[in-house]
Amino acid sequence: MQLQFVGCGDAFGSGGRFNTCFHVTGASANFLIDCGASSLPALKRLEIDRNAIDLILITHFHGDHFAGLPFFLLDAQFSRRTRPLVIAGPEGIETKLPAVMEVMFEHSSRTKQRFDLSVVTLAAQEPCSFGEVTVTPYPVVHGESGGPFLAYRIEAEGCVVSYSADTEWSDALIPAARDADLFIAEAYTYDKLVKNHLSLKTLEARLPAINAKRVVLTHMSDDMLGRVDELPYTAASDGMVVVF
Ligand SMILES: [Zn+2]
Ligand SMILES: [Zn+2]
Repeated sequence: MQLQFVGCGDAFGSGGRFNTCFHVTGASANFLIDCGASSLPALKRLEIDRNAIDLILITHFHGDHFAGLPFFLLDAQFSRRTRPLVIAGPEGIETKLPAVMEVMFEHSSRTKQRFDLSVVTLAAQEPCSFGEVTVTPYPVVHGESGGPFLAYRIEAEGCVVSYSADTEWSDALIPAARDADLFIAEAYTYDKLVKNHLSLKTLEARLPAINAKRVVLTHMSDDMLGRVDELPYTAASDGMVVVF
């Protein structure tokens, strides 16, 4: 399996990075984790075939994770996509997706797609399978608006990839990422405690309990980006590929 960071930035475009979007592929698996506002140009820059993607998993409804969907769907319609597409995310996705589509491109939510589009609601602790890909959501903690917030543990082709989503420390991250082949973790700040977000120092104290085979840091603020060269961890960058 491999994961490419299409975008690993925060909501503020820190470091000129694109909003969150990860592309995971294997022998047959082909899916995205999150689709932030800038994801369509980021996918095109990396020459990723959007019409081969079967599934998009959304962790929460903040624009830097979710607002790329209207662009993705518009592009799919105009590039004559025929392959079915599943978009899965937290409770509310069935109303929030058409709402964001209407705000960005009026009438787009009512346009009949040329392809089958399924929108699936995921609930915490309830594993859901999409072909060979099994997703187990875990509830995380990221404030009062834009949720529910879900971290994902994803099993495909004998591998486990976990993503913390945006969250302050939550013990749910331990089962979400335990022994994972790849754990992508938010490290918004170095040691400064910011409500609803995770600092590297907070995360670091919990990494032994998580015991992931590989950890890659994402969603970094300017504070973290200024230190990445000195850190004993792998930090994501846009376009970076991790094979696991
Ligand atoms: Zn975010
Ligand atoms: Zn967020």
